[in-house]
Amino acid sequence: MRQKIVAGNWKMNKTFEQAEDLVSEIANKIDDNEPDCEVIVCTPAVFLEMASDYADESQIRTAAQNVSEYERGAYTGEISAEMLASMEVGFCLVGHSERRKYFGETDEVLAVKTERLLENGIIPIFCIGEVLEEREAVKHFEVIENQLNKGLFNLNKEEFSNIVLAYEPVWAIGTGKTASPEQAQEIHSFIRKLIEKKYDAETADNTTILYGGSCNPQNAKELFANADVDGGLIGGASLKADDFVKIIQSF
Ligand code: PEP
Repeated sequence: MRQKIVAGNWKMNKTFEQAEDLVSEIANKIDDNEPDCEVIVCTPAVFLEMASDYADESQIRTAAQNVSEYERGAYTGEISAEMLASMEVGFCLVGHSERRKYFGETDEVLAVKTERLLENGIIPIFCIGEVLEEREAVKHFEVIENQLNKGLFNLNKEEFSNIVLAYEPVWAIGTGKTASPEQAQEIHSFIRKLIEKKYDAETADNTTILYGGSCNPQNAKELFANADVDGGLIGGASLKADDFVKIIQSF
């Protein structure tokens, strides 16, 4: 079901104490002022249990940043979807550009990770987006279509209805260069049309599509005002409670 969501991707930041301060500050601020959207924190895996404890008492939901493509067994260092589900983690990022770039995650691996999550009742927040050279060569539509075809469109309609998408132009991530509201709307509406072509209009209309890439308290309102933008995946600005909550309040 289509939802408004603001999700904070903490990446590999914060110590345990700092993480607890941040999550409790966000929880207090949003509990004082009911948000008009779902609020998700994508914490490092080692902080998920702590964040889930806050989630039990507040409106915050938790997400992992990564999951193993393997179910269980001799895969040292990996964390399975079953483990995340047993900690009541509701969401998990898949295909963030940093995982694609630094950890060589291919669309094929991402498709398997997505299946593992769905089997365990966890909602994948599946990230897609083009790099700068692709945008400059006007290949961004083709790139997005390929990422969807290979990573997600193997799912049947029912499975796909449990996916949240995040359009994150890679040139906008952590760079301070945000996509303009028009650029974001253009791609979000393109994505919705691809979903309609693959499944149907109802599925397309019910899909949540977030924007990510240097979203901040100054630009969030304009970005979220677009018809096909259902919220944001926030990196840098999610590390400060005040900024993150201002973004949440942009709805
Ligand atoms: C991200 O990493 O998902 C992201 C959107 O980062 P930032 O907001 O810092 O650009």
